[in-house]
Amino acid sequence: MPANTYDAIVVGSGITGGWAAKELSEKGLRTLVLEAGRSITPENDYVEHVPASEMRFRGMGDRKRDSVDQPVQQISTGMDEWNSKFFVNDRENPYTTAPGKPFLWIRGRQVGGRSLIWGRQSYRWSDLDFEANLRESIAVDWPIRYQDIAPWYDHVEQFAGITGQAEGLPQLPDGKFLPPMEMTCAELVVKDAIAKHFPGERMMTIGRAAVLTQPHLGRAACHYCGPCSRGCSTLSYFSSVNATLPAAQKTGKVTIRPFSVVHSLIFDSKTRKVTGVRVIDGQTHQALEFHGRVVFLCASTIESARILLHSATPEFSTGLANSSGELGHNLMDHCMGSGAKGFIPGNEDRTTLGHRPNGIYVPRFRNVTQKHPDFLRGYGFQGDAGREGWERGADMPGFGVDFKHALRRPGRWEMSFGGFGECLPRHENFVELDPEKVDAWGIPVAKIHCAWSDNERAILKDMAVTAAEMLSAAGATDIQPSVADYAPGLTIHEMGTARMGRDPKTSVLNAHNQAHDVKNLFVTDGACMVSSACVNPSLTYMALTARACDYAVNQMKRGEL
Ligand SMILES: Cc1cc2nc3c(=O)[nH]c(=O)nc-3n(C[C@H](O)[C@H](O)[C@H](O)COP(=O)(O)OP(=O)(O)OC[C@H]3O[C@@H](n4cnc5c(N)ncnc54)[C@H](O)[C@@H]3O)c2cc1C
Ligand code: SF4
Repeated sequence: MPANTYDAIVVGSGITGGWAAKELSEKGLRTLVLEAGRSITPENDYVEHVPASEMRFRGMGDRKRDSVDQPVQQISTGMDEWNSKFFVNDRENPYTTAPGKPFLWIRGRQVGGRSLIWGRQSYRWSDLDFEANLRESIAVDWPIRYQDIAPWYDHVEQFAGITGQAEGLPQLPDGKFLPPMEMTCAELVVKDAIAKHFPGERMMTIGRAAVLTQPHLGRAACHYCGPCSRGCSTLSYFSSVNATLPAAQKTGKVTIRPFSVVHSLIFDSKTRKVTGVRVIDGQTHQALEFHGRVVFLCASTIESARILLHSATPEFSTGLANSSGELGHNLMDHCMGSGAKGFIPGNEDRTTLGHRPNGIYVPRFRNVTQKHPDFLRGYGFQGDAGREGWERGADMPGFGVDFKHALRRPGRWEMSFGGFGECLPRHENFVELDPEKVDAWGIPVAKIHCAWSDNERAILKDMAVTAAEMLSAAGATDIQPSVADYAPGLTIHEMGTARMGRDPKTSVLNAHNQAHDVKNLFVTDGACMVSSACVNPSLTYMALTARACDYAVNQMKRGEL
């Protein structure tokens, strides 16, 4: 084969690209991973143990530089002085939005993508989610059900390592868990109060997270140092760099090419297949081509749609594989942030040990058994309880030695709940190419049109009420409910721009993430999602990616691709 020809090409090396690289190469395919950003070396790039005193701005961040290079990224509470290098440069990678419709697009552009900085919360979907669109005649029906994806959840969980507690809830299926992390004593107070006051309706469990609580497949157990989004030298949380890409490289069949900005896909109108991709070298700006028998787009929800929109051909004048007209449409993000906080009396002789990289979870309880009068679907809460003080950002005035001593004394136990709510898919929330603006590599940027509907606003309102109710049931004092009003995007769970479906007239992908129109093209990132559920989505992207790889390789073996 010529040097630039492979069995499979994977675009992107984030959460889904890492999985595609691992699965395809382990199944014997010579696989090329094209990644727009730089490579990452854990020994040099991971900085989770560097103290603030060693940082140039003492952990406060270079505000002047951030406001020029990362004005959008800095809005995410996930970015700090240590890890700003894992967030994209907004100046080189701009996007535009429709007037009056802000969208905060938080991205990572390096080998590993956002898997280096994600919050690691990992939950399965249930049939309550997969059947929701059909039940309510919204958008299109999912072409799969829980039983189709359950073995693939098992598969990815067993490799990634997910800590969690089995609870037997129909709306939040249990997984293949590593031992759960412990709740703090104030969390246990709240958990018991919820069980007592809302029996059969609400409950609280420890968060399910892609963090190792015991050694697993050559990676060490977490030592609770805390700031995971700066890297993890012991490889204890799941990321492409820590887990899937090393597994892929072990096969000897994978080539990872950083600084490879995919410009568009090459379509052969005779075979009606893609033959490869056009790339702009990120450093030299040289135009290159790579060829493959199958192409997996894993560049993230909006980037994958952007690549397809930019790959228009005479046959597909509005974007490759877009005979349905749905490409770019139905963009979703979870609505987030409403909730409440309060102080839990008692346990003043106890405190936390280490920095648990996980919180608690209150699974969805709205519209599970009873219909809510104000909105469809539901939400879950994440949160935690710790002792008030320096590290929880207490606003304590003071100066000098006495102040330093006061800061060391732990304050009251503070419990907070923050909701993550389902967003409905709507055709009018969409991404297109901006005809007037290009990025640093001359590629037209995405123009995003997205806004919440009354349903998401009603969910956000309800979150504040029910969070306060649970705190009140736990005897909390100084309860502060709050209703959030963040622009879409900030929850960083964007999905839906190339949805799956049974009918090629109304969906871009089939039940195996394969483009209806172009059989050797697969899109396995969040673009494929048909609805958003209310749980963090990345575990589902992983399972769908592994499932699609299995399907593609079987099709190739049968000579159908
Ligand atoms: C702070 C933060 C917290 C989060 N917390 C959670 C959580 O707790 N749970 C959860 O489920 N999710 C969470 N997420 C979301 C999660 O990170 C994403 O859902 C996930 O990373 C998506 O995977 P992906 O492979 O689609 O995209 P990414 O991981 O973003 O990877 C995409 C890759 O494609 C590359 N790329 C893009 N365009 C091109 C191109 N043209 N050519 C070549 N390469 C390209 C990018 O450089 C990038 O490396 C969080 C995200 C952030 C930022
Ligand atoms: S808290 Fe655990 S997972 Fe996070 S960086 Fe530290 S060791 Fe790694």
